[in-house]
Amino acid sequence: MKLSFEPHTLYFIHPFRIAHGVRSSTPVVITQLECHGVIGYGEASMPPYLGESHESVLAFLKKAAAYLETLSTPEHIPAILKTIDAMEPGNTAAKASIDIALHDLCGKRENTPCWKMFGAEKTQAPFTTFTLGIDEPVMLKQKIAEAEAFRVLKVKLNGIDDRQMIDTIRSVTDKPIAVDVNQGWKTKEHALEMIEWLKEKNVLFVEQAMPKDDIDAAHWLYERSPLPLYADESVQRLSDIAQLKDCYHGINIKLMKCTGLHEANEMIRLARTLQLKVLIGCMSETSCAVSAAAQLTPFADHADLDGPMLIKNDLFKGIEFINGKITLNDLPGIGVLPVASSGHQVSCMSS
Ligand code: MG
Repeated sequence: MKLSFEPHTLYFIHPFRIAHGVRSSTPVVITQLECHGVIGYGEASMPPYLGESHESVLAFLKKAAAYLETLSTPEHIPAILKTIDAMEPGNTAAKASIDIALHDLCGKRENTPCWKMFGAEKTQAPFTTFTLGIDEPVMLKQKIAEAEAFRVLKVKLNGIDDRQMIDTIRSVTDKPIAVDVNQGWKTKEHALEMIEWLKEKNVLFVEQAMPKDDIDAAHWLYERSPLPLYADESVQRLSDIAQLKDCYHGINIKLMKCTGLHEANEMIRLARTLQLKVLIGCMSETSCAVSAAAQLTPFADHADLDGPMLIKNDLFKGIEFINGKITLNDLPGIGVLPVASSGHQVSCMSS
């Protein structure tokens, strides 16, 4: 099999501010895995907090390509991914880009959508939330108007303008809100006070209220919170889940954190046995990685897969959001087709 890959930069429609800072673009790498003329597509997206970059992903993929070249078929996905995972620690987005391409390739070879390969029922896919970054009231209201088709809003808070953000949203819409603090609340007492206030504002759940390593604070909040608490930064891979029981009510699974679909599916199974709820999320990424993640959403309680809607230059056509509902298609694999590059919108670095 031949693995090829290309770095791109995605540009946000609006600069995106969360508790850690503001960004106007994000690096991704698109992979192609070819076997006897059939091509599977994959993607790595690298948010700053995970420490990967164009350079680190390309270096890892070069190493993985040499191994994949020794294989004649993509069958035995778990064994292939185990070898790739063992090549180096970390590099979870780079590994996900291979996992996604492998699943897409296998689905195409079997002429089957991945959701079917996972045993999912496509009509069970949930609605996606639509994310609002931290903003001034005027811009926030404009973004809420742009999100009219979506039934659930996801709001980023940072511990500073929180009440103003929520009050601004509530001045124009009653839609349910999911809140993501991105570790931005500094004390557990403040977190509890905020959660109790949010409880009265039709908020569904609160994601990553406190710093990711503060397990004691998470447990303290879990015992008192009137709203469900989800872990995001606190959970990356399968091995992180067991320690979160009695600290969170649910987990946010993202392909870029957990090395891809194979491990994400295992994480869903483990979460269920531990009575943890499941949210499937994404980074800032194209319809390639988001359509891959969407294949597993029939198993999830919530989905936050709005990545492609926040960027100007999507590189793929994939799953659709019809009135905010994730709508899986019947195309084989992850259900995507590449969009011809429009040149001026896509910046392509040489490796
Ligand atoms: Mg989050």
